[in-house]
Amino acid sequence: MKITKVRTVPVWGRRRRPFGTVTRTALGAAAISDYTIVFVDTDAGITGLGEVCSVFKRRGALLRSDVDMALAPAVTGEDPFRIAHLVRKMDQALDGVEEAKAGIEMALWDIVGKALKTPVYNLLGGKVRERIPLSYSIPFGTPEQMAAFAVERVKAGHRTIKVKVGSEDGPRDIAAVKAIRAAIGPDVKLRVDGNMGWPTAKHAIRMIRAMEPWDIELVEQPLPAHDLDGMAEVRRSIGVPLMADESIRNPLSAMEVIRRGAADIANVYVTEAGGLLNAMKIFAMCEVAGMPCMIGSMPEFGIGTAAQIHLGVAMTNLGPDSDTCGVLYHEEDLLATPLRIEDGFSYPPEGPGLGVEIDRKVFERWQRSPPADAAE
Ligand SMILES: [Mg+2]
Repeated sequence: MKITKVRTVPVWGRRRRPFGTVTRTALGAAAISDYTIVFVDTDAGITGLGEVCSVFKRRGALLRSDVDMALAPAVTGEDPFRIAHLVRKMDQALDGVEEAKAGIEMALWDIVGKALKTPVYNLLGGKVRERIPLSYSIPFGTPEQMAAFAVERVKAGHRTIKVKVGSEDGPRDIAAVKAIRAAIGPDVKLRVDGNMGWPTAKHAIRMIRAMEPWDIELVEQPLPAHDLDGMAEVRRSIGVPLMADESIRNPLSAMEVIRRGAADIANVYVTEAGGLLNAMKIFAMCEVAGMPCMIGSMPEFGIGTAAQIHLGVAMTNLGPDSDTCGVLYHEEDLLATPLRIEDGFSYPPEGPGLGVEIDRKVFERWQRSPPADAAE
């Protein structure tokens, strides 16, 4: 089989607004997700689907030119079964841009699964679990708004609530944690995500200690991604596990976190890793280092979410509840058949490949110009 063409289409979908305004975290505001959908065509008549997405505004759409100009030429004419070879060819063609490479790479797994008539999870080692338990993230709001939304998500089935903290309003962050714990009761896990918002280790340690009385499951990325010494200092100084998110992108950065003792847990992304193969390498490195992993979200649309779920059901050291439910953060999704996300769990599609198809009507609508408020 040969790859005949790589096609890319920029799309955007509106994010949900639980508090009536654009959602905000320490990473900034997000009115829409503007990503790139990738189609990899073959001479066997099989087309693989992929998604280029990023947590950083506009990046998922702008990376389209990297796919078109550098990555597509590197894989066109090649055998789509040679995924490791093609990942290396893409790395030789263009440094970095893991999210763009992931868009092509997940499409390759989709092609191989469709050709072999089996779900992608069977290509990644097979299922070690049937479903993935889900966390849900609560963006910045008033403590009352955040607590009411957390209760809504618990009622929808989530057994873990992630509170976005790391804002410039420290007392509000602490009050939000307190209000959410009071509202959801003692049996739901509550974690906090600083999204790199605290400037120094001392500042982060003071904030985390102030939150610890409300039974925090873990603390995610309190400091800037590069500050691994600071992360290690925070880790030694707090009573709860520390999870690295932005500090871990690809296998190389995961190795640095492990070597420097900068985290207890890893938050692994399919897109930031550069695809499923690299994400599996991070899982394997962490497993050997005794670190559990979870799967994090941009949040993805349905194609990217499906890739995450196939990974998650096949990884032995999947630990804390994951974010494999990006579609829930959008007003609608572009899949013809929605992913099965029920009672706080996501389930892998059981069809061949990634097991997803695009809804043409939504797809066409999502190609029109974004609304004026998308620039916020
Ligand atoms: Mg995070």
